[in-house]
Amino acid sequence: MRKYDERDTLFSRIGLKKDTKEYEELYRKNSELKDLDDTNRGSIFRDNLRKNDNFKELFFPLTTNNKLFIKSLHELSENYPVQKKLNVSKSFSKNIKEITKYYGATDVGITKLDNYSYYSHFGGLSESLGIDNYNDVIEQGYKTAIVFTIKMDLDMINRAPHFEELLATEEAYLKVSQVGTRLSIYLKSIGYDAFSNNSELYLSPLVPLAYDAGLGEIGMSNHLVTLKYGDNIRLGAVFTNLELDIDKPIDFGLKEFCKYCALCLINCPASAITHLPRMVNGRQFYKFRENACYDLWVKSGTDCGVCIQSCPFTQGVDYEKVKNMKDNPLLMGEIIKEHLDKHGRRNYTKKELDIVKLEGDK
Ligand code: SF4
Ligand code: SF4
Repeated sequence: MRKYDERDTLFSRIGLKKDTKEYEELYRKNSELKDLDDTNRGSIFRDNLRKNDNFKELFFPLTTNNKLFIKSLHELSENYPVQKKLNVSKSFSKNIKEITKYYGATDVGITKLDNYSYYSHFGGLSESLGIDNYNDVIEQGYKTAIVFTIKMDLDMINRAPHFEELLATEEAYLKVSQVGTRLSIYLKSIGYDAFSNNSELYLSPLVPLAYDAGLGEIGMSNHLVTLKYGDNIRLGAVFTNLELDIDKPIDFGLKEFCKYCALCLINCPASAITHLPRMVNGRQFYKFRENACYDLWVKSGTDCGVCIQSCPFTQGVDYEKVKNMKDNPLLMGEIIKEHLDKHGRRNYTKKELDIVKLEGDK
């Protein structure tokens, strides 16, 4: 097993300034990444949205202040003191799941945390929270992760890679933070320390935890693919020292299904997705050209999302068939054919949504 290190992630790497000590150190160890990363360094992808200035001035503020809300929520959660401890049995898991849904989660699973769940070091991605944490060692100690999904707006995702996709993504990140903050404060209120991961500060990568918590399987897109909403979700997780009954990973046959489907790979405008498996800490992911993906973000001015839109599970598949598709390639073929007949290679919608449609604009 190897520990994850947030400093190895693309966003952390390209956030480093050239010729600093940290920069030199990183690329001494990873010289093969230097040239590729240098092309992405310092590029602010939103500025490249292919819209006029009027559009940008009117609609960028829909999301640009989200980080302020997330900062406030983070501080609320961090500053809330742990109260007198109540006795809670492990079977309180069921209640915790319902509470998390009550706060706004789409689905919830619970898994345990161990040494290898956490990043070893922070990657310096928390500037918007006013935190400078590059190189800081991550302290561990929470026992349980309550992992949840927030469904994104499908009409917006079906406009990917255009601006509406960004609206869906940013809205989901804010909801992740809202749900996580309320849950962490609830846990502290009943006497158990808790930490809410949010898009500006993670203690762990969340896809492996979501997989362990039985929320879905890892698809060729390297996203968690859920049965009901595909990868049209964002993930949140609250870590706590309350011990709870845990869930198990599920297997509805996605690994095999992805081999027949490959729609995310076929549709990816950057050819960033591959079918080549990559094992990370016992879980199967896929090799991925992350710099090519980020290049596309810079070109489109959004975080693209075409892979999310392309997934049959995102668009909705026959649930009864999916329940029985494992080890049944014929049924998998039927599901894919039904999807293609209904949506084609991808369910792209060109027409702008009313929220960003300007009368008289072409
Ligand atoms: S976000 Fe776009 S460019 Fe990146 S992997 Fe998905 S489809 Fe490809
Ligand atoms: S689009 Fe197809 S290949 Fe890609 S993750 Fe979804 S099911 Fe798997």
